[in-house]
Amino acid sequence: MDTYYSHSRPTLDNEEVEAVSTVISSGLIAQGEYVQRFESEFARYFGVEEAVAVSSGTAALHLSILALNIGSGDDVIIPSYVCSSLLYAVESTGAKPVIVDIDEKSFNINVKSIKEKITKRTKAVIVPHMFGQPVDIDKICELGIPVIEDCAQSVGAKYGDRYVGLFGKASIFSFYATKVITTGEGGMVISADRELLMKVRDMREYDEKLDFRLRFNYKLTDMAAAMGTIQLKKLMDFITKRMKIAERYSESFKDLPCILPGVKPKRDHIFFRYVIQVESGLEKLISLLKERGVMCRKPVFMPLHRITFSSECHITDNVFQRALSIPIYPSLSEGDTEYICDAVRGSFKQMS
Ligand SMILES: *Cc1c(COP(=O)(O)O)cnc(C)c1O
Repeated sequence: MDTYYSHSRPTLDNEEVEAVSTVISSGLIAQGEYVQRFESEFARYFGVEEAVAVSSGTAALHLSILALNIGSGDDVIIPSYVCSSLLYAVESTGAKPVIVDIDEKSFNINVKSIKEKITKRTKAVIVPHMFGQPVDIDKICELGIPVIEDCAQSVGAKYGDRYVGLFGKASIFSFYATKVITTGEGGMVISADRELLMKVRDMREYDEKLDFRLRFNYKLTDMAAAMGTIQLKKLMDFITKRMKIAERYSESFKDLPCILPGVKPKRDHIFFRYVIQVESGLEKLISLLKERGVMCRKPVFMPLHRITFSSECHITDNVFQRALSIPIYPSLSEGDTEYICDAVRGSFKQMS
């Protein structure tokens, strides 16, 4: 195939190569001063005092739940339409994941569904800002249960005039290879609660401690942190490019028989994913696009309620049948973007 666009792709250049190679040459490659620097740059970006770096977004979720003293006998509410990381993070604390439905336009957790599932056992709700668009976070905070904001897909997006990650009791980020900024694997926790962050910092490593309690090895390496510091510097530019590509897609696809991603008022959409919804023929469309070298995907591998069979989520079921994620990443040039627009339009034409 002459033309090939992967579904997602990290944006890395010589700057990252040099930063990582400096760390390697230094001979100190595990958690050290580069992790400290990444943490303080990250905290500064968000205007908070402190951030704690960990080995993944899942580790960040796991430690945040534990730091809230949640475990066996407790419920944690999570949405169905999200990666299974949330399910495993909750399960590994001994708490019970309570899976709720989403809003079909924004793909974000449904506030009413959360309300319906709150009981005495409910100790937290994990709220992902899906595909780059902030959820109605103020309404969720008003429910009165501790909110863990999952900003894995929305680092740098704003709700009102504040960054997402500044609303929850604790907020987590992921720097996995496909995310908005990357360190290969990596994660971060921020919170206004210093004691909570202290617990997270304590639990992420086991060495040189005299008191015996639950701890892990969830440290980030200095190699990853050096890459992260460079990526963070580029975040604004990445977001601008993503928004520009999304704008072009929306213009090009406006007369196609599909629902385009909607942006709700009072917030950014940083377009971590550009997700359209089709009435029927999703698998066929994916294969037609593949023939043209454009790798599109279902943006969520499998809804969580279809893995656990512990609840019903009809909106998620519908969205899962219809949602298609089209490649979007900062390194797509104008020419690439036009090629993808033509491929999508051409594939739709073939479908009809
Ligand atoms: C990627 C992701 C995670 C998990 O992050 P990892 O770094 O892969 O462990 C959690 N929540 C959401 C919404 C994600 O997109």
